[in-house]
Amino acid sequence: MKKITILGATGTIGINTLDVIKLYKNDFEVTALTANKNIERLEKLCQEWQPKYAVMADTDAAEQLEQRLKNLPIEVLSGVEGLTKVASLTEVDMVMAGIVGGAGLIPTLAAAQAGKRVLLANKEALVMSGQLFIDAIRQNNAELLPIDSEHNAIFQCLPNSEQAGIQKQGVNKILLTASGGPFRTFSIDQLQNVTPAQACKHPNWSMGQKISVDSATMMNKGLEVIEACWLFNSQPKDIEVVLHPQSIIHSLVEYVDGSLLAQLGNPDMRTPIAYALGWPNRIKSGVKRLSLIDVARLDFEAMDFKRFPCLQLAYDAMQVGGTSTVILNAANEIAVQAFLQEKLKFIEIPKVIETTLSRLTSKDADSLDIILKADTEARQLATELVA
Ligand code: NAD
Ligand code: MG
Repeated sequence: MKKITILGATGTIGINTLDVIKLYKNDFEVTALTANKNIERLEKLCQEWQPKYAVMADTDAAEQLEQRLKNLPIEVLSGVEGLTKVASLTEVDMVMAGIVGGAGLIPTLAAAQAGKRVLLANKEALVMSGQLFIDAIRQNNAELLPIDSEHNAIFQCLPNSEQAGIQKQGVNKILLTASGGPFRTFSIDQLQNVTPAQACKHPNWSMGQKISVDSATMMNKGLEVIEACWLFNSQPKDIEVVLHPQSIIHSLVEYVDGSLLAQLGNPDMRTPIAYALGWPNRIKSGVKRLSLIDVARLDFEAMDFKRFPCLQLAYDAMQVGGTSTVILNAANEIAVQAFLQEKLKFIEIPKVIETTLSRLTSKDADSLDIILKADTEARQLATELVA
């Protein structure tokens, strides 16, 4: 029996994880479920899954949940302390890091420090903490398995998961595919007045709001470039983004002999989730089988950095290194939130990020304190910029 904590259980990743676990109720036990403040949803999940712990990041929400669950043997915790506790419980084998944004950093890092198998969906945590996170995984004999579909695909196409550095494995480069999001064919003019509803309507994937907007601006791909650098011990120049509108090839690895290895599948997060839950074995995911005849064709296009400046901002921040990626991520979170609240135009998102990056100085990101300080500073500045 493998015991699992699901951070962000009420989100898209959390729900998909529970959907896979449903197929293996004799093999997995859900020890803890967490959410931010959606009391109704977490209550329903607690009734269904009967975890030992339930955590709400929001303290008031936790009090209400405790009231509602008082007849069940479930310990209700709150705040970052609660999240950190359930991410590092001795009895837990694996932690699904499914919180969105920088809020996931501390609990996800705690899971690494506690030597867990970390199923990493929360890319922002790795973008912020980079080397610190990778070191925590290594020093504590933890396992890091990527959930992001592209990175999961790359992981499957690499000869082994060793952090040896891709050159040593005969890899020439990593090809990260991008669907292009809802605005792939929009002109700069058409992008002027797009709405949050349009941005959140992804053509192939059903996801939370923040990552949907990131997919529309291409910042999602930018964060994924940074994520790939850390996961596969590679440099920004080793990673090329290729537009692939059908989202069937989830990414590829190009070897020095000219071979390209790709992972294909229907765009459904349950495949990478099942892969990571079962690794090194393969388990069923409940995903519909891919019919190549139905797909019929696979298209590829070059990326347009002009219409989607966020991708270049991410490449540049990774090249600069240090806290640049922390600043990039923080400014992006604030800008996306402002866009969702209709306080900022879509095309202003990259401008806010660029200005925040240009006004703050990058420092070595070698401690959590430095990272959190850079994050706070960048959020403050970006908040002023969107006001
Ligand atoms: P979502 O918005 O659907 O869910 C987010 C979850 O995080 C919810 O359970 C919410 O309660 C929790 N949460 C939000 N703010 C919190 C806070 N301050 N403290 C504690 N918990 C908080 O998001 P999602 O689409 O499931 O994405 C989650 C993560 O997975 C993101 O980092 C995203 O980039 C990544 N990811 C998602 C997908 C996808 O298909 N949805 C694919 C790849 C990667
Ligand atoms: Mg992805």
